[in-house]
Amino acid sequence: MVKKLIIQKFGGSSVANVKRVQNVARRVVRYKKKGFNLVVVVSALGDTTDELIELANQININPSEREMDMLLSTGEQISVALLAMAIHKLGVEAISFTGAQVGIITDAAHTRARIIKINTDKIQEALNKGKVVIVAGFQGVNLNQDITTLGRGGSDLTAVALAKELKADECEIYTDVKGIYTTDPRVEPLAKKIKAITYDEMLEMASLGAQVMQARSIEVAKKFNVPIHVRSSFKQDSGTMIIKEVKKMEEVVVSAITLNKGEAKITVCNVPDRPGIAAKIFNELADNEVSVDMIVQNVSHLRQTDISFTVSKNDAQKAIKTINRAKVAVGVKDVLEDSDIARISIVGVGMKSHPGVAGKMFEVLARNKINIEMISTSDISISCIVQKKFAEMAVRALHSKFGLSK
Ligand code: ADP
Ligand code: ASP
Ligand code: MG
Repeated sequence: MVKKLIIQKFGGSSVANVKRVQNVARRVVRYKKKGFNLVVVVSALGDTTDELIELANQININPSEREMDMLLSTGEQISVALLAMAIHKLGVEAISFTGAQVGIITDAAHTRARIIKINTDKIQEALNKGKVVIVAGFQGVNLNQDITTLGRGGSDLTAVALAKELKADECEIYTDVKGIYTTDPRVEPLAKKIKAITYDEMLEMASLGAQVMQARSIEVAKKFNVPIHVRSSFKQDSGTMIIKEVKKMEEVVVSAITLNKGEAKITVCNVPDRPGIAAKIFNELADNEVSVDMIVQNVSHLRQTDISFTVSKNDAQKAIKTINRAKVAVGVKDVLEDSDIARISIVGVGMKSHPGVAGKMFEVLARNKINIEMISTSDISISCIVQKKFAEMAVRALHSKFGLSK
């Protein structure tokens, strides 16, 4: 009989210390003894990646992206080796590999590389020898043999891509919560675990800040129809299935609330109100690889206007420098930054067919005296930028108003 293959990914919090690495090893061995073939993907221990970034910034605030990838990939190399040792200690054969060793080939976009192909020979060979295969998440190698990383949270992507490439029977993402909740359970303890969620809703949630899954990993899962099971590494209960379609008698209007504190708002003041100015500003930003999210242009007065937009906090300084460089050409006077903002979003496929959702959202914020600074919408979400100090209160109020609380 052909053995079933399971991909199991363990996030940083699941391997934050020796005890937790041993806990993961015990779970892996239990599955191995049940007769499964296992490929285990691991993230760096606890907050290692953040600590490495901090270390780099102490030396150079603007480090080379190639060297950054060299540095960050070491985090995962530590955890795979330790997990292999912990599994050996339990008397089971296991072998660890870096992304480069197992042939995860990416493009050359350091710190956010895309996977081009995966050569599975080495993994297959080790599986055939009966070994548990442990792969370092979040990393690959480009055609120049340089190590690359796949963007923050990229171990999720490693797991999903391996599940697709190895035609795995299951892809399990183990984390420090019991699954996908109606909102971050650390912000709202009344949040409910969702049994099953569609790729589209999960992708929207991930893109809007629900850190629990990396958005790019969901894009790949959706494209190749890889079902994902998100569950706790500390409990045995089943978690949340992320799948193509969830059959419900009637669509709930709002299925989740998300919170993102990772953005900054940049305001370009007193821009001349004439054709071509916005194009100039945003082309300059694009040429400098700053991705812009929400954009709002204020009502013009005296043929001048303010344009505000949001960027990832990491890109805020780059955005400001870029606009300052183009200041004279564009005719801009001042550029302001506000990092004390948060994006609150409501997500739900049911929104498409239910009017009045936006009004209800704004009313909840108004009742709590929370000012909305920017608004944006998609087919299945509405987002508001508010001051950061109100973020948690807004999430809890919306969670309750849209009937999501336990
Ligand atoms: P890992 O280290 O396993 O990759 P992450 O920290 O990346 O874990 O993601 C898990 C965290 O995501 C949880 O601890 C939780 O606080 C947060 N989170 C945010 N939104 C949600 C949500 N809707 N459902 C579950 N967890 C969420
Ligand atoms: N260690 C990497 C990060 O912190 C990748 C991951 O955890 O998925 O972003
Ligand atoms: Mg993660």
